[in-house]
Amino acid sequence: MSNLTDLSIAAIRDGVRDGSFTAREVAEGFIANVEKGRSLNAYVVETPEHALAAADAADQARTSDDLKPLSGVPIGMKDLFATKGVQTTAGSNMLGGFKPVYESTVSRKLWDAGAGMLGKLNMDEFAMGSSNETSAYGPVISPWRRNDGGNAPLAPGGSSGGSASAVAARLCPGATGTDTGGSIRQPAAFVGISGIKPTYGRCSRWGVVAFASSLDQAGPMARDVRDCAIMLEAMSGFDPKDSTSLDMPVPNWEAALSSDIRGKRIGIPREYRIDGIPEEIGRVWDEGIERMRDAGAEIVEVSLPHTKYALPTYYIIAPAEASSNLARYDGVRYGLRGTSDGGIDGMYQATRHDGFGSEVKRRIMIGTYVLSAGFYDAYFNQAQKVRALIARDFERVFNEVDLILTPTAPSAAFALGDKSSDPLAMYLNDVFAVPASLAGLPAMSVPAGLDGQGLPLGLQLIGRPFDEQGVLNAGLALEERSGFTHRPKAWW
Ligand code: GLN
Repeated sequence: MSNLTDLSIAAIRDGVRDGSFTAREVAEGFIANVEKGRSLNAYVVETPEHALAAADAADQARTSDDLKPLSGVPIGMKDLFATKGVQTTAGSNMLGGFKPVYESTVSRKLWDAGAGMLGKLNMDEFAMGSSNETSAYGPVISPWRRNDGGNAPLAPGGSSGGSASAVAARLCPGATGTDTGGSIRQPAAFVGISGIKPTYGRCSRWGVVAFASSLDQAGPMARDVRDCAIMLEAMSGFDPKDSTSLDMPVPNWEAALSSDIRGKRIGIPREYRIDGIPEEIGRVWDEGIERMRDAGAEIVEVSLPHTKYALPTYYIIAPAEASSNLARYDGVRYGLRGTSDGGIDGMYQATRHDGFGSEVKRRIMIGTYVLSAGFYDAYFNQAQKVRALIARDFERVFNEVDLILTPTAPSAAFALGDKSSDPLAMYLNDVFAVPASLAGLPAMSVPAGLDGQGLPLGLQLIGRPFDEQGVLNAGLALEERSGFTHRPKAWW
């Protein structure tokens, strides 16, 4: 029954419900794929027993008519979410072997909704990166290949690279991701799947290893928009354990899904037409604009004048918060402890020297610098002010339009190794993703076409605060009209 692994989350859920197949058959199919797909390095821990236990519970629940929204659906879990008793490392040596004694709220909610876990997914170390190459567990490989036969393996994007590769390669039907400055949307675009970062505060950060707390948001990555809606519904909700959690009811996004976007006003920000990006990105964007127009939306050119400051602003604020959040890894409380004969200071130094990789060290140094007494006003304070201006740009534009449509990333997937020695080139990949993060807005990437090398390109929809429904509906309209059914060729 290997074709069960081609089914969407909705189709798995419905098929288990109506008895077309059992949840155990589904779980076994994905477990077999996880084993066959090991060369992608997408999973850092495999938990078939968890997936099978949830599947058996789903098959039991069916007989007693007690099915839950995700009964019978096995998923992958980004290794940033604390999973009780299951190794959680955030892709870092610092947390090598760390088994949390508690469950993150988001993973708890998914299990409560009936989902099972196939394993923990590889990621950039502490979610810092855009290619999954900063992971202590080695890079994840994208299942996609260039048409010209270029043999260099491609990056799946990052930091949720394991999630992206696993979903695209059918090693799970859906996965959790987290997005601080694009880490759900950019990898989704690179591998031809969908992913949504909800409004800041929708998903609890409790038990999600912290990177930059004012930006971090969890969200789903799946093969289509409906599956994202289904997963997001299960993941969202107020949590008193997260002081920035939104105290608002979770809408029934799937039930209200509709690709009827007639009369919606969609803004096209002129500042996103930047020089030096491949012509094909512009072509796919223009096609997307035409598709929205065909669907009955009104297209409006808009201006977000502070866009050009978003990337430098993000790369001040995110490292500043990271340097503070990562101060806890001192070798005393948990995780790695380095050895040194230099007393407690020596132990701290050895721990942080051995535990962190070079990108994480770079961020800690940048963050410490921009927060230091002599530079705080010039950098951190200034960045906070510019962040407010960026948010105000969006607020103003959302008086005129309902949604904004842009490319997700300035390029298709690049080869592993292409940018890993040039941090600035790597950071530039986030140029279209970070403005919505700084403003806390819901934003989604939907696959929209292929480039000349046969690699997927994504388009991004940004919505008003709390308007995940508008984003999902426009995403569905785009998905239906793009007819994107491409998938990577078999890789094993
Ligand atoms: N690529 C960005 C960074 O390296 C975003 C990462 C993320 O969203 N977690 O910071």
